[in-house]
Amino acid sequence: MDEHRREMPGGGLFIRDGFIEQVGLTVDLPERADEILDMTGHIVLPGLINTHHHFYQTLTRVVPAAQNSNLFNWLKTLYPIWSRMTPEDIQISTKTALAELALSGCTTAADHLYIFPNGSRLDDEIEAASEIGVRIHASRGSMSLGESKGGLPPDHVVEDEDFILKDSQRLIEQYHDPKPGAMVQIVLAPCSPFSVTPSLMQSSAALAREYGVHLHTHLAETQDEEQFCIEKSGLRPVAFMEKLSWLGSDVWFAHSVHVNHDEIRLYAKTGCGVAHCPTSNMRLASGIAPLMDMLSMGVKVGLGVDGSASNDGSNLLEETRQAMLLARLRAGLLGASKSDKTAPALMTARKALEIATLGGATVIGRTDLGSLEIGKCADLFALNLSRLEYAGGLHDPVSAVVFCAPVKADYTIVAGKIIVKEGNLLTLDLLRLVERHNQAARRLVDGGN
Ligand SMILES: [Zn+2]
Repeated sequence: MDEHRREMPGGGLFIRDGFIEQVGLTVDLPERADEILDMTGHIVLPGLINTHHHFYQTLTRVVPAAQNSNLFNWLKTLYPIWSRMTPEDIQISTKTALAELALSGCTTAADHLYIFPNGSRLDDEIEAASEIGVRIHASRGSMSLGESKGGLPPDHVVEDEDFILKDSQRLIEQYHDPKPGAMVQIVLAPCSPFSVTPSLMQSSAALAREYGVHLHTHLAETQDEEQFCIEKSGLRPVAFMEKLSWLGSDVWFAHSVHVNHDEIRLYAKTGCGVAHCPTSNMRLASGIAPLMDMLSMGVKVGLGVDGSASNDGSNLLEETRQAMLLARLRAGLLGASKSDKTAPALMTARKALEIATLGGATVIGRTDLGSLEIGKCADLFALNLSRLEYAGGLHDPVSAVVFCAPVKADYTIVAGKIIVKEGNLLTLDLLRLVERHNQAARRLVDGGN
């Protein structure tokens, strides 16, 4: 993913103190190092970057009452269940989500936590993430517009706006690291137009800009949301954001399914990024985002697995494949099945990988991530090409990674540290975690305390 998109058979990397010091043919690299990994027969790629998730939702996958609903009904079913979470649940679910992500080649994850019941704090997530060793951009999300004030969430899950802002400031001061190689960055992320007030959107933007941190929210995800914005403000979602000073290169939006060409052009002009979440958009029947249009008009796009209650997994390699396939489906609906020259172009596997790596880095504002180049963070993953899934596809190993069935990473390395080795997560006991996770999930869904 360097400027020339080089692919290097027989290539290797020399890493020191978390950064890439040399990239080249293995024969040209230093012969000695503290640790040498022989990845003969593997393909090594830049670590995947997840730009939208709600780690806590791994606790509420496949909840029967929310399996067959659209976004608003799905949320209304799940809010009461989520309101039973404790700080320990946040920790357990963070570990589960990051374990799954790391095993799918992800090395940096942006998470959006916007519900803080029973003393839960963003600190719980940050602490748990540091044990796994994946980089995180932890969003201080928020909800302040309860049902009684015309919002979607029930009143008991929303927070006081002064407290939200005070806590946001505390988190930035305590955790945000703006330097290259940062393992933790803080993002301010009011949840969505239908769960916060316009004034909280504006004061969050002002606070974020005072500290130079990024802004994130859900936008233009469904037609219900579009309707809500038009009824409340007389504006479509993107125009509403423009009015609130929420367009800029420090902002990225999850979804943006329902955006027209003028709105896409405005994203490109103002530098807004998009977290494209194809699986979630299919799961909740939200629609198909105009991904190829965004790319051709110069919008920054990354991929997100979205919360595990609307996916119901955290496999970023699978998401890369879904992005390619869904973009092709849309192209087909627009006439790509015709053989004339005007037919829309198809998303390629390499482009999908570019969005999942470099695209994600750009969206979350990291110039030190997304490619395997000298001076960049030593974040990568490797897949053994001799596995069953790739049999017969090795004429083009790079494309095979996206076209063939998604597999688990054999190696995942973050900041030069090995997180996954020979397919095993080294930083925690998975069996024990899954057991605790299932206990917590049962307690939340059954309603006990
Ligand atoms: Zn989301």
